[in-house]
Amino acid sequence: MDVAEMERTSEHFLLDGEEVVITSALEVRCDGGGGPLGHPVEYITLEKGGQAVCKYCDRRFLHVTHPDVPRVRERGQPFEP
Ligand SMILES: [Zn+2]
Repeated sequence: MDVAEMERTSEHFLLDGEEVVITSALEVRCDGGGGPLGHPVEYITLEKGGQAVCKYCDRRFLHVTHPDVPRVRERGQPFEP
């Protein structure tokens, strides 16, 4: 799966000031959004139904089958990264 495809399968939300990414990918790539707020590229592996937090920017990645996904979609504010 290439990077563009990962981006297409991700949804970004803000929830209680925290950035949460819901993704169907089991490996995600985070650079903090690039630019002055960015950080070195970090590859993060997710388990099915699992979650992981980027060690640089605290962005939280939820696999699409994680139990918190419905709550994030309901309460979070979608945004385009
Ligand atoms: Zn990050």
